[in-house]
Amino acid sequence: MVDSTSPGSPDPARSPAESIFEEVGIVRDPANLFHQTIEQVLVAADLAGLQHHQRIILAEPKNEVMVHFPVLMDDGHHRLFKGYRVQHNNALGPYKGGIRYHPRVALDDVKALAVLMTMKCSLAGLPFGGAKGGVKLNPRELSEDELRRVTRRFCSAISHQIGPHYDIPAPDVGTDSRIMAWFADTYAQMTPEHSRQDVQGVVTGKPVPFGGSRGRDKATGQGLVHVLEEMLPELGLDLSKIAFSVIGFGNVGGWTAKLLCERGARLVAVLDHTGAIGAGRGIDPRRLAEHVDRYGGVANFSGADGIDEDAFYSTEVDVFVPAALEQMIDERRAAEIKAVVIAEGANAPTTPEGDSVLLQRGVEVLPAILCNAGGVTASYFEWVQNRTARSWSIEEVDGQLRDHLVAAARRTREARARYDCDLRTAAFVAACERIGEVYDLRGVFP
Ligand code: GLU
Repeated sequence: MVDSTSPGSPDPARSPAESIFEEVGIVRDPANLFHQTIEQVLVAADLAGLQHHQRIILAEPKNEVMVHFPVLMDDGHHRLFKGYRVQHNNALGPYKGGIRYHPRVALDDVKALAVLMTMKCSLAGLPFGGAKGGVKLNPRELSEDELRRVTRRFCSAISHQIGPHYDIPAPDVGTDSRIMAWFADTYAQMTPEHSRQDVQGVVTGKPVPFGGSRGRDKATGQGLVHVLEEMLPELGLDLSKIAFSVIGFGNVGGWTAKLLCERGARLVAVLDHTGAIGAGRGIDPRRLAEHVDRYGGVANFSGADGIDEDAFYSTEVDVFVPAALEQMIDERRAAEIKAVVIAEGANAPTTPEGDSVLLQRGVEVLPAILCNAGGVTASYFEWVQNRTARSWSIEEVDGQLRDHLVAAARRTREARARYDCDLRTAAFVAACERIGEVYDLRGVFP
């Protein structure tokens, strides 16, 4: 099809990403996560045959909201906070994505994470677009009352930009169901014209008694296990016999470890912000979760030995699960990791340089938009339950989650076969194909 918006013929000397960067005015910085992410999307969009206007649409978020708001602290002074909500794309449905509380939250990272939500929702076959938000703060340094006031004030600051049919936040790093309950309640106070049922659906990841879904809490870890079940046999691995290591022991790392160990796998090393631990005989994930709850991290856990970071990365495993922050696996770490498979539980845990090293070394990387799609998939189930005023059984949630994740894994594998590319590119291609198809049908207004 002839693309009427294309400005002349493309220059064959430039990569598909380079010419779009130049056109939309992005000055590429190789260390910038947003630029890295857009580059991956543009390479995939090109392979998927997306039209020029569809590629420029994906190259920038539709809306970037930045707010500053004062909050009364426990000691009586006011502190000014900075918050973001970035809405990348809503071609497939309402914007969807988490809200992060972390001291290093910054605009370009939130933009990158919003793009990844667009891709993830598309790959998982959900009727959602992509968004992400965050507040720059360290939740560990704030009291419960301070966190509640920050959440209420942030929700009120962005309340006109979100809504159960428009943009639906959820938990992410540093936020949880308790924060989502405050968020939903604040939104309810701000929008009295909405019925209560509508208002509940403004956020997902709520506590079960307040409109949350059974199974949402464990869903990201559960989804990762389903992806492994589907992908490991072709690599000659049996899930019930694998040894694995995990970075991060929060919601994703903790649940992944518990669910894999229930299936017979052995957790042999864990790294988090407090240190690293290892035990060849296996670490009990339930006891470790209790320790982390009590002491804030894995350091000094009595059921394993303290090890250093280098030893953690070079521990021999079948599956390595990064489930903490972005960009942890760089060139150096990628060269050290001794694993057959990396299953990315966190968003964007591998740098492009790290990725090339892993590719060269033949380590199979199961990409984040596939591996961690379980969280937003269960969020979708929660949203459907809110809209239909129903409450699904855990069996219904688990069954539907499995079906969605297995289908997404198959879509990825199928794209890899069609385009003869790595799995990360394949996952992005499959996601782009669906968005391109919908844009072909919808056209661009006016
Ligand atoms: N924060 C999670 C993610 O990155 C979940 C988002 C959601 O449930 O909307 O996928």
